[in-house]
Amino acid sequence: MAGFRELLAQTKERIREIEPAEAEERLGEATFLDVRELDEYEQGMIPGALFIPRGHLESQIENRIPDRTTPVVIYCAGGTRSAFAADTLQQLGYTDVVSLAGGFGRWKNEGRPWVTPAVLNPEQRNRYHRHLLMPEVGEVGQQRLLESKVLLLGAGGLGSPAALYLAAAGVGTLGIVDMDVVDASNLQRQILHNMDRIGERKVDSAKKTLTQLNPDVDVVTYDVRFGADNVVEIIEGYDVVVDGTDNFPTRYLLNDASLLTRTPVVHGSIFRFEGQVTVFKPYEGPCYRCMLPEPPPPELAPSCAEAGVLGVLPGIVGSIQALEAIKLVLDLGDPLVGRLLAYDALEQSFRTFKVRRDPECPTCGEHAGEIVIAEYDEHCLPHATLADGSTVGH
Ligand SMILES: [Zn+2]
Repeated sequence: MAGFRELLAQTKERIREIEPAEAEERLGEATFLDVRELDEYEQGMIPGALFIPRGHLESQIENRIPDRTTPVVIYCAGGTRSAFAADTLQQLGYTDVVSLAGGFGRWKNEGRPWVTPAVLNPEQRNRYHRHLLMPEVGEVGQQRLLESKVLLLGAGGLGSPAALYLAAAGVGTLGIVDMDVVDASNLQRQILHNMDRIGERKVDSAKKTLTQLNPDVDVVTYDVRFGADNVVEIIEGYDVVVDGTDNFPTRYLLNDASLLTRTPVVHGSIFRFEGQVTVFKPYEGPCYRCMLPEPPPPELAPSCAEAGVLGVLPGIVGSIQALEAIKLVLDLGDPLVGRLLAYDALEQSFRTFKVRRDPECPTCGEHAGEIVIAEYDEHCLPHATLADGSTVGH
């Protein structure tokens, strides 16, 4: 029977070891795989490395590195565990695997690049466990969510579910713009609020609900009328804006400011039994003006206060908006850029329509002039509601 030294020697004969200098040349090309324990990893890692503790290697590797021809450089602290790990990966069919001689210890001593990973604390690891199980999110993605900033326009029908789900998912900073107070007639759909909050500022009510749900989230409130004088200042610094407004002047204003600051907007709207969602990614897809150069005449665009909206519907549309915001933050999948998703609650159907960028768009087109942030009340205000600000939020 082989002792430890003999076993290690036999294993090393079956694998290839490379020196730190050679490994450094492969940074950015090969996948670096850290097989140490969490407490070691937290002290420092090779930039960009994938972290799978040795004990989880066999069970997790196929999910984390599905392509068995991927070049992999495995490292541990001193080069022993990584040698065994390399042997295991070869047995699992990985064809281009090497072990880093001397491990992270030698790498660091030789002055090669390393970073301290941002790590979740034990409570966060438990709270976001379902995210951590998915390699597409994982610890790195969760950290990115915690560092992200999403602005919600409106703490109403669409803003409520969007804010709740974004807070639950661990978006670290949620800005909320709304200058309304909670009214009993809001509670049919605006699930951020409740009976105890009637008469309270909506932003304060929203902050209480969200902070109780997830104390990791910093809720920044803007109890102001969203206007030409403050729009740029407010949206600057946010990664994504989730638009839950229900009036054309605010949408045009937001559109222009988002192009100016290059902030993507997840647009949502609801009407009776129908909802729509699309993503306006500045200069990569169409903008709101490409899609709707002019607002429809007032008689064709009644507000939700006039036309009504089925409860639950904003929950579906706002949740899709939250999902799109998370996809943008994590760079996941195909966001609804250049696509309008239309939902019909009575048919229970989703349809997707192409939305094209207009080369002659007055704001984002080839011949567009300098963007001037101005309000469009006189030209396109279908209802004289902006003056008291009560239309922010459905
Ligand atoms: Zn445009």
